[in-house]
Amino acid sequence: MTPPSTSPDERSPHGLPADDQAPYDLVGVGIGPFNLSLAALCSGVPDLRVLFLDARSRFSWHPGLLLEGTVLQVPFLADLVTMVDPTSPWSYLNYLRHHDRMFPFFFSERFHIPRREYDHYCRWAAERLPSCRFDAEVTSLEWDETARAFAVTHRSADGTLSRVRARQVVLGVGTAPVVPGPLRPLLTETHAGRVLHSADYLAHRAGLATARDVTVIGAGQSGAEVVLDLLRHRDDADGSGEGGPYVRWLARTPAFAPMEYSKIGLEHFTPDYVRYFRGLGEAERERLVREQWQLYKGVSQETLGDIHDELYERTVGGAASPAALHPGVEVVAASAEGDGYLLTCRHRQQGTVFEVRTSAVVAATGYTASRPAFLEPLADLVDWDDRGRYQVDGEYRVALDPRVSGSLYVQNAETHTHGVGAPDLTLGAWRAATILNAAVGRTVFDVPSQVAWTTFGAPDARDGERAWSAGSPGGVLGSTATGSPR
Ligand SMILES: Cc1cc2nc3c(=O)[nH]c(=O)nc-3n(C[C@H](O)[C@H](O)[C@H](O)COP(=O)(O)OP(=O)(O)OC[C@H]3O[C@@H](n4cnc5c(N)ncnc54)[C@H](O)[C@@H]3O)c2cc1C
Repeated sequence: MTPPSTSPDERSPHGLPADDQAPYDLVGVGIGPFNLSLAALCSGVPDLRVLFLDARSRFSWHPGLLLEGTVLQVPFLADLVTMVDPTSPWSYLNYLRHHDRMFPFFFSERFHIPRREYDHYCRWAAERLPSCRFDAEVTSLEWDETARAFAVTHRSADGTLSRVRARQVVLGVGTAPVVPGPLRPLLTETHAGRVLHSADYLAHRAGLATARDVTVIGAGQSGAEVVLDLLRHRDDADGSGEGGPYVRWLARTPAFAPMEYSKIGLEHFTPDYVRYFRGLGEAERERLVREQWQLYKGVSQETLGDIHDELYERTVGGAASPAALHPGVEVVAASAEGDGYLLTCRHRQQGTVFEVRTSAVVAATGYTASRPAFLEPLADLVDWDDRGRYQVDGEYRVALDPRVSGSLYVQNAETHTHGVGAPDLTLGAWRAATILNAAVGRTVFDVPSQVAWTTFGAPDARDGERAWSAGSPGGVLGSTATGSPR
């Protein structure tokens, strides 16, 4: 493996940066798992000048929810590289070897590794990849017509501004926490630690554990993990087993539903489904993403089971339940009241409105892709869709004004065009390899396009002969469907 050259960019102690260096072939903004995967794959490409920038001081994966005992929701094979290059030195197995953990891992027989270890693995890779630079918050991305390159300005914590140029840029800035409208006015300093998004949970866990009661909103994996953690990490000073907050769990969904995890169901996280989904009309895509919530918003069977076990244990001998579970409920208004909060809720099926008084609220209400502020200088050159979102092609390239000869790619901001796999780690290495191939203009990594057993669209005539003729004498006599993916 040849490490890429990463010559330092121009820095200026104050004011505007100088920028007369040769452009990088590719600059990545953000070093989460997705751009880190790209950095790892790029590291094996000779003479490719790449740089990846992240605002944080070091790699850190959702630190506010890095709870003990939680596991990755995908098999460890969905690491930074293995799904496209199992021989890469940046694989999870190689990480284990470097840390003398192969034997313990072998004996543990686990497919789903601790989240804390995934975080440590990614940091191990990020600290060794010479192209990764931290303490570099990108503040502006512009198109420099004269240099025919993007100008990427970044700032370190001490305020130093630097600028690099890049022929191609890959945005991997992740998604932003979403808080329901009624709770937003309460996200102020006054209510810090008592009204928060689950992304900040760990920083406030100790305070919440001593609250009288906590209301958790949201029936995704994060909400379930916070509920379980609050039930488990209770202040049990008198040993009665009755300490800790009363936990109320509210969910808009009609049930605390398990995440779809069947083997065939998981084929929605394949290149085949991405291609099929891209071929559908916009209205159909919107409808599907809404309806497929159980593919990305449900709770793992295990966590649901753990919550049930915890409640069972805590109510032995007729003890009062330490929790209440309310599906089908949305919060329609919220206000501070005394030393707590008043939530006005509506049961979505019954239409009944009721009030809840609570000491603290954790909104485990998900994340969404948003337009980063640093993109403003380029905003007029991006061909946004009519809802202000990127239009993304099959190689993850964002549609730009034809005057821009460089390419801008996105990772994890394309659910509306590429489907539910966008935030999922399963497709991360595959997508990064697809971008790398496009960026260098040749096939560095062979990326399969057909891996699923499921045929998502109508079978075409050729497929028909192969797949249908055994059971139906005529097979499919030429499909008339126009949306067929192949
Ligand atoms: C708690 C949690 C657990 C999850 N677990 C799983 C799982 O088990 N399996 C799965 O498939 N998916 C999981 N996901 C979903 C998804 O895979 C992760 O959110 C993943 O981290 C997304 O990676 P990313 O690279 O897009 O962004 P992120 O991991 O969010 O990283 C983005 C990075 O960009 C940086 N950045 C942002 N703006 C700038 C800027 N202006 N300049 C420089 N840097 C910037 C940030 O500092 C950050 O480091 C989970 C999500 C959450 C929230």
